[in-house]
Amino acid sequence: MADHPIDDISPQLLWAEDGSPRSGRFGDVYFSKDDGLAETRAVFLEGCGLPQAWTGRSTFAVAELGFGTGLNIVALLDLWRRARPSGQARLNVFSVEGFPLTRNEAARALTAWPELAETAATLLDAWPAGTPGFHRIDLPQWGASIDLAVGDAHWALEQWSGAADAWFLDGFSPALNPGMWSPEILALVAARSAPGARIATFTVAGAVRRGLAEHGFEVEKKPGHGRKRERLEARLPSSVPSRLKPHVAVIGAGIAGASVARALIAEGARVTVVEADSAGAGGSGFPAALVTPRLDAGDVVVAGFHAQALERARDLYRRLPGAVIAEGVLQLEQAPRDAVRFDKVAAQTLWPEGAMARPDVAACTERLGETVDTGGLLMGDALALRPSAVLEPWLAGTERVTASIAAIRTDQDGAVLLDAEDATILKADVVVITAGWGSADLLPDLDLSPVAGQADWVEAALPPSFETPVAWGGYAVPTGTGLLFGATHDRGVTTPIPNEDASERNRATLAAVLPGRAALVKASTPSRRIAVRATTRDRLPACGELEPGLFVLTGLGSRGFCVAPLLGEHLAATILGGPSPLPRAFADRLAVGRFISSSWNHAAKVHPG
Ligand code: SAM
Repeated sequence: MADHPIDDISPQLLWAEDGSPRSGRFGDVYFSKDDGLAETRAVFLEGCGLPQAWTGRSTFAVAELGFGTGLNIVALLDLWRRARPSGQARLNVFSVEGFPLTRNEAARALTAWPELAETAATLLDAWPAGTPGFHRIDLPQWGASIDLAVGDAHWALEQWSGAADAWFLDGFSPALNPGMWSPEILALVAARSAPGARIATFTVAGAVRRGLAEHGFEVEKKPGHGRKRERLEARLPSSVPSRLKPHVAVIGAGIAGASVARALIAEGARVTVVEADSAGAGGSGFPAALVTPRLDAGDVVVAGFHAQALERARDLYRRLPGAVIAEGVLQLEQAPRDAVRFDKVAAQTLWPEGAMARPDVAACTERLGETVDTGGLLMGDALALRPSAVLEPWLAGTERVTASIAAIRTDQDGAVLLDAEDATILKADVVVITAGWGSADLLPDLDLSPVAGQADWVEAALPPSFETPVAWGGYAVPTGTGLLFGATHDRGVTTPIPNEDASERNRATLAAVLPGRAALVKASTPSRRIAVRATTRDRLPACGELEPGLFVLTGLGSRGFCVAPLLGEHLAATILGGPSPLPRAFADRLAVGRFISSSWNHAAKVHPG
């Protein structure tokens, strides 16, 4: 990320004889040598009044400065598991780490506490890559999620859109690491605090006490743990009752709608999905889909967003039985400049170590099982996916309505969805339009463009090397029972019919690069399908709030399966007032507002009441 000011991010760990880790970089310990766990519980958990502070709450947000070994968060999760306010209650954790430990380093540090072993193992299993940016860790079995921001604390707090109910300020001692306690950091902590928020820390340094008091916290010194004389508790006045979960109508049952629905249901909302046709009737209905990031060698926001989206999509898809057909997608060079571009992409620090490789001509030929004349970019974390194995489980917890929505009326009480005869189909508190190209009818001012795409496939037994998903301009992707290839890009076509002309173009695209696959295709019975994708002027999604109660996720082009899962979580957080997994810089860039001019009048189809 551009504004990530830390170049060398190694924590420079040193291990003491008693097995505890120490930062060579800062010259301080991660936790107390005597009994880190007891200190964590005394200083941070009790210091924030936990578990009493979350009693009766349906969601509770904890933020930490200094994730380190994860000990504080493991102790928090351990307490949450034992004293969760209800079976539905959600814990959202946000933590920041500028110098991430590897999973092995954290595992070594955490072995000191056998009583936390099970909770620690679960966190370690989900330990994210130490790449810069936000990483979401899901722990649905405990109703918890963690957003770990890898980067400088100042940047991370600026980018976070949440509001913490409790803070663990644990960034080494102010004397050794003043940057973690600066007035700017304390101001951001205050700005990202919910009413009634509590702060706990081990330091009673005067500058910290005064800084917090200036921002309205009531600050109190408490007797310290162990050899430490004192610790600090601080609290903002007034706490609010937890919000009720709204009823959300989602228009469209493709990957965008399914992703929004999944994320909302995971947060306890009630969701009704309205779809004119069947699930996946649009662009999400092919027998296979590629989950590939948009590559950008220059624009760090575009590249960083896609790296985060891919990590999240992959993590969620891998949990769904039958969803992942193949891992690793080979993108072939198409023009000489691609070689330079792919070199740059492979060198970006956004990707996990080794995730982006640069196979040469020989290696590509070997991997593909037929001769090609260019090298490529092997995207190890990209996927070939079976869309139906994603849409079904993600829509399963929703109520379903089959109807074509022609207009939406919004007022203070919520929204009314109407059909073409002006009959009420559904009332809801909030509406999300996720109708792909169909969104253009409801939002004519949005400036979406249609691109019709036909893909063809055959049922056939593939030789193992043909199971490698490959793209170049065209693509050839295993479906599990055959091969899908395509696709056409016909701009401006809005009511497409599958046709032989497009099939011929798809076969020619395939034959030009992969004649072996083209021969296999020729010998089998073909099927074809066409759908319209919605794209935007800048080819980035349109995502966010359009007006109170009305939200949008569309314009996903051909990247829907890569970006929708993360954007679904971002929208769910925006709707429910929870912490978004997206850094603000990404959310702002994708915000639907960028398409709305001052003459925006909701056109004919969305009427504010
Ligand atoms: N809470 C941790 C645990 O449970 O293991 C211990 C945290 S340790 C005392 C402080 C952490 O803050 C270190 O992991 C360090 O790398 C991180 N840190 C220090 N300065 C930072 C900065 N400016 N931005 C982000 N992280 C920083």
